[in-house]
Amino acid sequence: MDSSALMATASAEPRIIRTSLSAEGRQRLFPQATDAEWGDWRWHQRHAVRGLEQLERHVPLTADERAGVQETSSLFRIGISPYYLSLIDPEHPFCPVRMQSIPVRAEARVRPGELEDPLGEDKTRPEECIVHKYPDRVLFLALDTCSVYCRHCTRRRITQGGVAELSKEQMRRGIEYVRRHPEVRDVLISGGDPFLLSEQRLEELLAPLSEIPHVEMIRIGTRVPVVLPMRVTDALASLLRRYAPVFVVTHFNHPKEVTPEAREACERLVDHGVPVENQAVLMRQLNSDARIIKELSHQLLRSRVRPYYLHQMDVAEGCEHLRTPIAKGMEILQQLRGHTTGLAVPHLAVDLPGGGGKVTLQPDYVVERSEKETVFRNFKGERYAYPEPEETDCSCPYDETWRARAQEFGYHRKG
Ligand code: SF4
Repeated sequence: MDSSALMATASAEPRIIRTSLSAEGRQRLFPQATDAEWGDWRWHQRHAVRGLEQLERHVPLTADERAGVQETSSLFRIGISPYYLSLIDPEHPFCPVRMQSIPVRAEARVRPGELEDPLGEDKTRPEECIVHKYPDRVLFLALDTCSVYCRHCTRRRITQGGVAELSKEQMRRGIEYVRRHPEVRDVLISGGDPFLLSEQRLEELLAPLSEIPHVEMIRIGTRVPVVLPMRVTDALASLLRRYAPVFVVTHFNHPKEVTPEAREACERLVDHGVPVENQAVLMRQLNSDARIIKELSHQLLRSRVRPYYLHQMDVAEGCEHLRTPIAKGMEILQQLRGHTTGLAVPHLAVDLPGGGGKVTLQPDYVVERSEKETVFRNFKGERYAYPEPEETDCSCPYDETWRARAQEFGYHRKG
């Protein structure tokens, strides 16, 4: 058959869209699970794979993975929900879901420059559950457990266990801290994964925090939409909506993770009026390619999730094998900016080792600068001049008046 005949045959054949990846994996790995069990997040928690023997029953491990599980067993726990496990490619060691959930030997090695607390959070931890690093916002650590233990976790000193869910007294002290600090306008609840708390426990945290007059917004950091999407129930979404503005910050790293189930979870939140943003981590040989990041961004936007940050990997212990050179992130950004919708281009951020805070990077588009004009190169490499204005006084004469008016008309009041 010549090539034109082959093409004609290929285009005449209907495209087969197979059932979802997780449905196929579920059938292969958990054929006995009923629909009710598969749809129940607590069933997934109870049946999470947590050790070598269990893991080998589900995935044929490579020698590196087997040794990795053994050598990291005292360093960081394993936990993979049946749902996330169902996405693993049993035949390919570079499957992104596999790389994020199954350790390899390199994870047991600490390289020079790697830190147990890479973001210097423990230096700014006035309460067990509060990290207060930036002036107007705090991190509220609600628990130490996750639905999947990510091999790239940079907060593993907490998620490796031993902290557990906050006691009522610790939670009260954390809330009191926020109340006593009027400069705090933004609380990021994280952990561990706060969506593993029952609705009642979550509400015990959200209700008092949202009543504090100076707390203007709450963010919740979670991987649940990615690794345990059945946890995002109407009850959970409605609870979050009651305490608006609550932003959910999730963590998809590869388009393979944006399954119909994950998409439904994100859309359920958005349908309830809860905005969802994504923070991805750039990882070597997992998503370190502009094509992958672009596809991830497009799939997220289709799921009504905004790609917000692309993080350079933190210098956490045991993660060097997943770290990319800084230049790779810049190169990826350069291949996105101008080549796709601006909303699909995340901020490339580096959280500086030791607690320096986040800085963002972008390719340099300025070619020349003078008092008269700035010359840029655009995404195609063409040069364009932007003329500077003659007047350069940028003070805002209405500002004092506006501040008084805003006070008078209660612009800054909550509700
Ligand atoms: S879900 Fe987040 S906190 Fe938990 S292991 Fe993964 S990266 Fe770490």
